[in-house]
Amino acid sequence: MRRLLVLGAGTAGTMVVNKLRRRLPSANWRITVVEPGDQHFYQPGYLFLPFGAYAPRQVVKPTRSLIAGGVELIRGEVDRVVPADGEVRLCDGRTLPYDYLVIATGVTPRPDQTPGMLDGGQWRKTIFDFYTYDGAVALADALDRFDGGRLVVHITDMPIKCPVAPLEFAFLVDDYFRQRGRRDRVELVYATPLPGAFTKPVASARLGTMLDERKIAVEPDFLVEQIKGKSLISYDEREIPFDLLVTVPLNMGADFVARSGLGNELNLVPVDRHTFRSKAYGNIFALGDAADLPTSKAGSVAHFAAEVFTGNFLEHIDGRPMTGSFDGHANCFVESGGGKALLIDFNYDTEPLPGTYPLPAVGPFRLLTEAPVNHWGKLAFRWMYWNLLLPGRPIPLPAHMSMAGKHLPAGKD
Ligand SMILES: Cc1cc2nc3c(=O)[nH]c(=O)nc-3n(C[C@H](O)[C@H](O)[C@H](O)COP(=O)(O)OP(=O)(O)OC[C@H]3O[C@@H](n4cnc5c(N)ncnc54)[C@H](O)[C@@H]3O)c2cc1C
Repeated sequence: MRRLLVLGAGTAGTMVVNKLRRRLPSANWRITVVEPGDQHFYQPGYLFLPFGAYAPRQVVKPTRSLIAGGVELIRGEVDRVVPADGEVRLCDGRTLPYDYLVIATGVTPRPDQTPGMLDGGQWRKTIFDFYTYDGAVALADALDRFDGGRLVVHITDMPIKCPVAPLEFAFLVDDYFRQRGRRDRVELVYATPLPGAFTKPVASARLGTMLDERKIAVEPDFLVEQIKGKSLISYDEREIPFDLLVTVPLNMGADFVARSGLGNELNLVPVDRHTFRSKAYGNIFALGDAADLPTSKAGSVAHFAAEVFTGNFLEHIDGRPMTGSFDGHANCFVESGGGKALLIDFNYDTEPLPGTYPLPAVGPFRLLTEAPVNHWGKLAFRWMYWNLLLPGRPIPLPAHMSMAGKHLPAGKD
């Protein structure tokens, strides 16, 4: 019996075990997934919780109900991987041997990494996050109570999962206060370590204009060193006072990755960016946010990556070369308020461009353009996530990015 062990039953881990259970005969293959929690959270839904647009129950399902029959689900927390022995040790002392290991333990917000963020007496009083379920739920009350003053939306450092989510939050919070007649009493500031609104030039210009149109002041190149009372202080000694801070803390991979000697300084696993294979060990792979891939950390990336990985893995265990090559394909709806959203679609080599997706001219989705259809696409994504993506069912979107429907900026064709 050969053993595939997957660490983490989040987006990537769940998709991979469900896909591979169908392809690997149960008589020859034991598939096990390890997960500490008994609930699976739909993280893109966290964006909507502070505004009351989703009820908390809409973003949670029991983990067991999402894992295919024939996959062993072990409730436990990984303490370390011991590659030399081909085994994983859990915090409760259990040991799990593997022939092949997939690390899919994601990244988590770490407010403890910025002095004054968690330990300055302001956490969940005037400092909130929406990157955790509890944080997003608590923020709903804080926004409801916020009657005026300076609200700062802040990113600690890159990379973060869903790098457009803080922008979406800024657009939605502007809309939220407008609808409640409180916008003129709220000063909105967007503090980012990036030189502009986003990482890639064409999208950054478009999204930057949208911030300007909404009178959201941008504080670029802002790298926070510490939080003192109710002020963010940067390394270059700029100070941004706030009445309410909505921060995205440093995102880090799981600590066991560092303890196992498998990670970089953010506990991300260095992998081949086309095959997800660990650069250090031939029988270890990392999928989803846990990997150090130079593309967005996003559920869409985990999905496209899982498609490529599944085919490759079947070749690899047969002793054949892996022929699939992941191109960094990512797509994300960017909610912009007022029942509209943009869509961005890109990969390692091509930045987000205007046009239509997935079909040329027809769309129906509009790239880098605000449209109601994109907003409906974003809302429909939750249904797709639970019913198609997590079960590992095929969907009619190719894993590789296509140039069909995209318009190159003038002078680049
Ligand atoms: C606010 C917000 C909005 C987002 N919006 C979008 C969006 O619109 N579109 C999009 O595509 N993506 C979006 N994302 C990103 C998306 O949710 C993640 O990229 C995706 O969930 C990554 O999947 P993953 O499997 O790598 O990690 P996760 O889904 O985070 O799963 C990791 C799993 O590993 C488990 N784990 C951690 N440590 C251990 C351990 N020591 N032992 C065992 N198990 C462990 C965790 O409990 C968890 O279940 C958003 C994320 C956030 C926070």
